[in-house]
Amino acid sequence: MKKELLIKEKQAKRTNPLAHVFDDFIDFCQSKSLFMLHYCTGCGAIELPPAMTSRFDMERLGIQPMVTPRQADILLVTGYVSVKTLKRVILTYEQMQAPKYVIGICSCTVNGGMYWQSYATAKKLNDYMPVDVYIAGCMPRPEAVLEGLQRLKENIKNDRKQQKGSAWKEYFANYDTYLGNQQHLFGDDWQTPVDIIAEAKLYGLEGEGTYGKNTEKLAKVQQPLLPQEMKL
Ligand code: SF4
Repeated sequence: MKKELLIKEKQAKRTNPLAHVFDDFIDFCQSKSLFMLHYCTGCGAIELPPAMTSRFDMERLGIQPMVTPRQADILLVTGYVSVKTLKRVILTYEQMQAPKYVIGICSCTVNGGMYWQSYATAKKLNDYMPVDVYIAGCMPRPEAVLEGLQRLKENIKNDRKQQKGSAWKEYFANYDTYLGNQQHLFGDDWQTPVDIIAEAKLYGLEGEGTYGKNTEKLAKVQQPLLPQEMKL
């Protein structure tokens, strides 16, 4: 509670005209050093080794792989997402610290792609979590992957001017809608160990869309849960 008040107080006090210079500098630095967690859900993952290694060399852009969600900035979802896998993707996303970014690689993440009629596949990734950049193609070549990452870097760099690198805030501000879509797919007893409403309060991003009939449903079934106790 004390931390929450301190953050709100800090946001309210940003009246110094030079504050934006430091903000822009922080955005610039942030866009130059990004750690990426790649969740290889589908065949699109096969284009990542060439994108990361000597031929296309993703590291020259300041982007390199990270093995845990808690230290990653970017979540790459590399292809179709089955309903079962989507639970793990959401759990992974919620464990990442903000600011966090999601890139959907492959047409399957945009609209289901060739699995659009499958009962076992989630169609639009952005129904379940905010997606910053989509890279369409079946499968997109490494050049397209790098172009998408460059686009994300630009969005992060210009976030405060254009509000394009803040998709993660949507998850807190419209949590009820995202949760409703998740419940529709996984059932009304769906819950994860992360308390998103508490996080929304902490970041000062609580809005009208944070609460609703779906969060009420969650409150009835929610109980303290460790990651290993989660029913997947
Ligand atoms: S878009 Fe094509 S390559 Fe990518 S996951 Fe779907 S089927 Fe596989």
